[in-house]
Amino acid sequence: MGSEKLFQALNTQLNRELSAAYLYLSMASHFDASNYSGFATWMRAQSSEENQHAMKFWDHIYSRGGKVELLAIDKPRSEFHSPLDAFEAALHAEKANTEEIHKLYELAVGEKDYPAQVFLNWFIQEQVEEEDSAQKLVDRLKQIGDSTSALLMLDRELGQRGTEGTGV
Ligand code: MG
Repeated sequence: MGSEKLFQALNTQLNRELSAAYLYLSMASHFDASNYSGFATWMRAQSSEENQHAMKFWDHIYSRGGKVELLAIDKPRSEFHSPLDAFEAALHAEKANTEEIHKLYELAVGEKDYPAQVFLNWFIQEQVEEEDSAQKLVDRLKQIGDSTSALLMLDRELGQRGTEGTGV
């Protein structure tokens, strides 16, 4: 059984993961509407991963004797000026999420909750990968600049993303 304070924080993080899934889905919609089907595929896969993250929190909370309470999810941003703008927003969101995961870990340490610390280790590593892949795509989009042909090539490349890996 974990502490009530930590359960509440884990429940809030579950909501953040669902919010992240919603933001990526909004980006997927933007890209489908803009005829970038590869970027849309990548964003949908990302959204699906965030839903899986939320369910990891769900399972952890229930395996420790807590209860999940679903909270409201805000309307995500839906307007993006360019692929670079969207991927920069994704990177920004991942960095903010990393900070929240670190705060959660600090709370788990403070509460002397060792199972929660082990559970959160996976997310700490996952955030390193999430930031790395978003940063690499931002860097590539900056290199591409105004080149339509290079942009369409990257779109095709990211469309190859399956359920494993991020394609970068
Ligand atoms: Mg996540």
